[in-house]
Amino acid sequence: MQVFNLNELLAVANVAKSQVVTWCEECGEEITQEMNSCPGCGDDIVWDNSKTWKRYHGSPTVAKRKLRAIPASNQPGKYLMAKTGLPGFKSKQEATTFNNAIDQVGSIKANKIIDYCWESGSRKRGLVMHVINTLNKAVRKQAQPESEGDNYEF
Ligand SMILES: [Zn+2]
Repeated sequence: MQVFNLNELLAVANVAKSQVVTWCEECGEEITQEMNSCPGCGDDIVWDNSKTWKRYHGSPTVAKRKLRAIPASNQPGKYLMAKTGLPGFKSKQEATTFNNAIDQVGSIKANKIIDYCWESGSRKRGLVMHVINTLNKAVRKQAQPESEGDNYEF
């Protein structure tokens, strides 16, 4: 993904705001404000502060969040994302933490934890974080079967 800021480019451009173009950092193709992908290499393009881009493609903030999202790669992850309505995990690190925990506790337990967090009222990003915290507690508990430090029973 490449993000261009119209205000920054306008400062060095000698044309009207709507006419400002730039060039792809990957392949050098010209990028206009109507484009959300490069016509040369297909890389995703987002323009900040461009009314033209926003008219065609909506909020640049939402677009960037979607493009950065890491899609779920297993059944509990897909179940979790369906409940949150989010396109995926916010970072590779978050996805890895989740997937490692799933490897430890298994899908059945993970789905129960997702339901538990949902029923306790967590939603959207809060639900993802609540689930990951609870999964990590379950992993720790599994690693030390004798420990009795928390109340989570799954
Ligand atoms: Zn390109």
